[in-house]
Amino acid sequence: MAGRSNPSADAAAADKASTAGEAAPVAAGQVHADATRIGAMLAEIARIGPDATGGGISRISFTKDERTAHDLVSGWLKALGFTIKVDAIGNTIAERPGTVPGAPAIGVGSHLDSVPHGGRFDGIVGVVGAVEMARLFVENGVATRHPLRIVIFAGEEGARFGEPCVGSKAVAGNLGNRDLALMKDASGISLADALRAIGFDPRTVPTARWKPSEWAAFLELHIEQARVLEMTETPIGLVDTVSGSTRLRVELTGRADHSGGTPMDVRADALAAAAEVVLAAESLAKDSRNRGARLTVGRLDVHPNSITTIPGRVRFTIDVRDVDSDRQRQLAVEIVRRTRVLADRRGIGVETELIADTSPVVLPIWIREQSSKVCEELGIKYRVMTSGAGHDSQVVNAIVPAGMVFVPSKDGLSHVPGEWTSASDVARGVEVLYALANRLDGLLASLEGMEAGSSSAA
Ligand SMILES: [Zn+2]
Repeated sequence: MAGRSNPSADAAAADKASTAGEAAPVAAGQVHADATRIGAMLAEIARIGPDATGGGISRISFTKDERTAHDLVSGWLKALGFTIKVDAIGNTIAERPGTVPGAPAIGVGSHLDSVPHGGRFDGIVGVVGAVEMARLFVENGVATRHPLRIVIFAGEEGARFGEPCVGSKAVAGNLGNRDLALMKDASGISLADALRAIGFDPRTVPTARWKPSEWAAFLELHIEQARVLEMTETPIGLVDTVSGSTRLRVELTGRADHSGGTPMDVRADALAAAAEVVLAAESLAKDSRNRGARLTVGRLDVHPNSITTIPGRVRFTIDVRDVDSDRQRQLAVEIVRRTRVLADRRGIGVETELIADTSPVVLPIWIREQSSKVCEELGIKYRVMTSGAGHDSQVVNAIVPAGMVFVPSKDGLSHVPGEWTSASDVARGVEVLYALANRLDGLLASLEGMEAGSSSAA
């Protein structure tokens, strides 16, 4: 790698031109994230959008609850001296200027929405972690050459509209006005209408697009959502590859009829056919040649859903995830083919629709190498790992080099009320994030030929 950076020396130089404070800058390994503060922030956000029953969180994308959470965190960042902007799709971007005018930003963030009946940590940890990291910079009077931008992406969870990472797709330029009208939730509300209902103008969404020249790097802290870190007693995971997902909506149409009057051999039971598809999906993913792939039927709507009527119509979703892009699409094609064969045999009609498709992404090796060095310097055990879940980072990586840091998930649980990560585990992640942001600030400045601490290079 080009020239080892020295975060503390960089920060010392940068501090000369800083307005952030008089205090001496503090080297990465000497600052400590505050677990109590982190726990308090997590608890406060968890008060927004709680489930009426079950103890989980339903802070659904593009709702008032999601906006309330963004506003709460914006308030914290504003108090730290950040300027706040909300873009056309609802992403919140808070900025603290760097000491070199016009330098591209180092972004850090995640999301605040949840799946229905989800937990308190998925996405939230990355936002709370970014706020705590911001506090470490501010409280220690450490300036950066690059602006720091804390980003809270809107609508990361795809549970409502089928499409995940909507906010990050908008900044990456992967979301058109047509998509906003076509994406509908279970009650038929389009994303465009959902945006209007919370005070946004969907026609302006293209303005949310980021200019690659304005971004130097993006970092995301996230819970692992699996149990590898916990089982191996490793506090930090550094992500090399993020899984992609292909999502399908399937509708099987049979014939609704009386459950008592209709003999078994003349039925066209859409649910019995759907059951075969669910099992076929499971065995396809378990086949050894597909090791690493994951297929899930997570939603099944049965019509008329009555105890005394043969199901005439079933709609369901299929979610195909893989770190191998070709295999991901081949599996999606294969499950559609099998669905047709299974349904044909029963005289059931089939309609399928592709509702979302995101490619797996290999994150830049150089950021991961810098992350490894940071962990080694801090004396923190880490492992390099893939992410089975999708993330905003894989989307923005198309325009800004992105890195991801994982902290352990208790029992590997996620997307359920039992999701849990200790505040001290998050604090360790924040310390890695802080040191990494410092390190990248120094390294990128030397690569970009920035004059150390210069404030006149306009
Ligand atoms: Zn997430």
